[in-house]
Amino acid sequence: MTFPYKFKKIFVHREAREDEITRRILNAFPQLPVEEVPSEAAFLDIVGAVPLTEGKKYLWLSRYKGNFIKYCPGATGTSRHYRCCNYLVINEATNCPIECSYCFLQGYVTNPAMTIYTNYQKIQEELQQLSAANPGRIVRIGTGELTDSLALDPIVRLSHKLAATVAELPNIVLEMKTKTNHIDHLLEMAYRKMVVSWSVNPAWIVQKVEHKAAPLEQRLAAMRKVNDAGFMIGLHFDPIIYYKNWREGYRELIAALAEVIDGSRIAWISMGSFRTPPPLKENIRLRFPKTPILAGEQIRGKDGKMRYIKPLRLEMYRTIYQYLKEAFGDPYVYFCMESLDLWKAVLGKAPANSGEVDYYFARHVHRQFPEFQFPEPEPARYQQPIWHAPGEATALWQAPVEFVGLNTTPTGEAQ
Ligand code: SF4
Repeated sequence: MTFPYKFKKIFVHREAREDEITRRILNAFPQLPVEEVPSEAAFLDIVGAVPLTEGKKYLWLSRYKGNFIKYCPGATGTSRHYRCCNYLVINEATNCPIECSYCFLQGYVTNPAMTIYTNYQKIQEELQQLSAANPGRIVRIGTGELTDSLALDPIVRLSHKLAATVAELPNIVLEMKTKTNHIDHLLEMAYRKMVVSWSVNPAWIVQKVEHKAAPLEQRLAAMRKVNDAGFMIGLHFDPIIYYKNWREGYRELIAALAEVIDGSRIAWISMGSFRTPPPLKENIRLRFPKTPILAGEQIRGKDGKMRYIKPLRLEMYRTIYQYLKEAFGDPYVYFCMESLDLWKAVLGKAPANSGEVDYYFARHVHRQFPEFQFPEPEPARYQQPIWHAPGEATALWQAPVEFVGLNTTPTGEAQ
């Protein structure tokens, strides 16, 4: 397959040179020069200071030394003000060959290269520990927090390794998120217990803003294949972007999605409006001076990020949610980093805390996908922190908000 990304050179950490992922990448790009370096410091001396656009043209293959599995930054950073959902992330790579104008990585990464960690066995071990430490509790976890899960996966094939691991773990729901159409290699797997998710936006936004991502028609064709093959599907309306014809754009987008996806295969749909920490906005202006995404009045939210003013967010969410209900019946929709009053105004539910949101997810996937035999959720389990390893003294993450117990009469019982 051909990729729309152009790389110039591959750097390999000495200790990663014999790793399977390294071999795969070297075989896939035989024309690229390869340099072996003795340490990360030596690599950063060469590439660390180049600008991001240039840095993305270098592949850096090394082993990750810390824990791959972490709490979603939204939960640890913003859940005092916004309802989060107890999602975990796997940082299997850092940086992304796609170039979305709004990408938060532009203000986040300190190493500009496309970094791929080659010691995937450590991720498999961590998943096994995570499953054992939280028996009976459904834990949702995804790759692609700091990259696109499938951009290079046809070469790297982390999906195959992780799907095989998760197939043996009753309580882990694995999600891979993408803006590509790189799914043919997923269809070759024997496993289907995976949520394949797409970040979606109207065709006009895709064309103007999501550079090097798959055009919408190609994503739709990929969704149809994944749907028909029996995977679970996730949709992320995030970031929702305001532009002149946004109503029409989102209406047409959702109608097109309904043509290719069966509502019963949808694990979840998220909505989140475009938001930026102020320094990121400056980076966007510098890197994409003609981008249309900086239109729309924004104010600073309680977490310091700039967001559209609340009446505009409310109008956009309500409109899109209405289209989704018309297209898919009663899909499981949640907000990413949104305030409780908007949860209530749009979705009609006011979850008491992250644990309650987490429980709703668990209940939904358990009911919706009996073929994967997820454990039946017990509400009390979701009031606990998520543990990382059996017997560890500290939780993977300790809730920054006080757990007040599950609201026994949540307004969200409707879904
Ligand atoms: S696909 Fe995701 S990680 Fe990649 S550039 Fe776009 S927003 Fe950033």
